[in-house]
Amino acid sequence: MKPLNPEQVLWETRREFGEHGGVTPSIARSSTFTVIDPATMPEIFQGLRGPDKGGCFLYSRHFNPTVDVLSRYISAIEGTEFAVCTASGMSAISCTLLQLCRSGDHIVSSDTIYGGTHALLQKLLPEMGITTTFADPANTASFEKAILPSTRVIYAETIGNPTLNVTDIPALSKLAQKKGLTLVIDNTFMPMVVTPAKLGADIVVSSMTKFINGASDVIAGVICASRDFIYKLMDLHTGRVMLLGPTMDPRVAYDIIQRLPHLAIRMREHCERAMAIAERLHKIGAPVTYPGLPSHPQNDLIKSMVNPRYGYGAILTIDCGTKEKAEKLMSILQNKERFGHIAVSLGFYDTLMSCSGSSTSSEIPPEDQSKIGLSPGLVRMAIGYTGSLEARLEQIERAVRMVGLVS
Ligand SMILES: *Cc1c(COP(=O)(O)O)cnc(C)c1O
Repeated sequence: MKPLNPEQVLWETRREFGEHGGVTPSIARSSTFTVIDPATMPEIFQGLRGPDKGGCFLYSRHFNPTVDVLSRYISAIEGTEFAVCTASGMSAISCTLLQLCRSGDHIVSSDTIYGGTHALLQKLLPEMGITTTFADPANTASFEKAILPSTRVIYAETIGNPTLNVTDIPALSKLAQKKGLTLVIDNTFMPMVVTPAKLGADIVVSSMTKFINGASDVIAGVICASRDFIYKLMDLHTGRVMLLGPTMDPRVAYDIIQRLPHLAIRMREHCERAMAIAERLHKIGAPVTYPGLPSHPQNDLIKSMVNPRYGYGAILTIDCGTKEKAEKLMSILQNKERFGHIAVSLGFYDTLMSCSGSSTSSEIPPEDQSKIGLSPGLVRMAIGYTGSLEARLEQIERAVRMVGLVS
């Protein structure tokens, strides 16, 4: 397969101008849209006309011109036919699963996923008659074993959160095809770096709150899929996005559009620094996990999945053993070394760090946490790109030595 260059695809196939020829798109702040010929309106309701079918808009919970510009940019990056932006990553995930599954249906999901998605699958969806069996993402056979006659969906994240296992997307795609299932991949951790649709994913969901926006100032999500599936989500009578209503505000869409031109540059810098920090920690014998390190059990797999010249992601973990040691490390890194901030989330320009077991993965019960290898002392770091790399390397080395993580 020819390697993909998402930056090139984005700017060579998509360039949107403002309505008066502005070099940036206009913000279309209208909740409703007029038609010249009254006969056009029923055609929009029937799905015969839409943003890509005659440039027709109806109402901004359906499609909005500015939000649609962002959708087209993201679908170019992710290599899918179409996309729809949503108010959050969680709404992108929940609407996708509710569109694909009815009461009585079953999902096979990776067991190392975002805490909110885990809670959705384990607690909320069963109340609606949709059940999930969790499988080990490092073991494709465990997905196959979990498939039932009622299974509709295979769900996983490109890089498992927070244990950083790598999902074998081509293998899961083969399995999904063989069994007639839909493969949904959450690519929040790896925009530009991995293109799951090119590796066989049917639907790619992301939280744009993280790297894609990159400034930690908005909550946003996106569903990338076939034109047919997006129109199903937006169907005026049955569409899950249309009827549950997690609409993106056009002003938020505009802000994210302004940050896309430097997404590739940011990802490259995030990844390069994460690699340098992981290498330094590994060299001094600190308990670091990072998919780009040759010591990572799935280093070959991630190498076979990434687009060239971006790196291997910006997330690494340090296993401090206990929650107390983890808290001490984070406290030193934030309050003494000024290395980063103790905060959940990722994809910010500064480094963000949190103790996953007692924060973003606390929805996962302790017994399940140990089953998936989530240590109570695991510190997840989303490496930023502010400050000089040399200074950052010195800061983290001093901190791990002070906590006694290396002898
Ligand atoms: C943050 C996150 C989500 C949820 O996104 P929101 O924008 O906060 O709703 C889903 N999946 C992953 C992997 C995430 O990191």
